[in-house]
Amino acid sequence: MRSDERYRDAGLKCAVGTRSHMICCSHGMMNGSEFVCERHLEMASASSLNRARQTGARLQFIRACWSDDDYYERVVASGRYLKLCEALRWAEDSDEEAWTRMKREILKQQRREVAQRAAEDAMQSKARA
Ligand SMILES: [Zn+2]
Repeated sequence: MRSDERYRDAGLKCAVGTRSHMICCSHGMMNGSEFVCERHLEMASASSLNRARQTGARLQFIRACWSDDDYYERVVASGRYLKLCEALRWAEDSDEEAWTRMKREILKQQRREVAQRAAEDAMQSKARA
């Protein structure tokens, strides 16, 4: 997951964007092929946003270990290959979990805002009647 980078012209669609909010902004966070724009990231709690950033950084680090040939060979030679596999799987799982949790929070917050607006509209039209 890369964060706080620009994705202008990348043709990315925000994973939590609604039809009325398709084009968000070009800053945001990337996880695999999924993207969440900065404006929507602000709707997540600080703790789940931090968690997603941490798990993303950890996954990137472990993936970098995998693609580092020297490191990889040392791991294989020392018989720690399975441990590295395990670490990668664990990092992938926890990153996926953190990302999903963060998206769920944003979607919930969006629903709450829509509902609040609807409730306010209803109260206003009732007051006018
Ligand atoms: Zn968005």
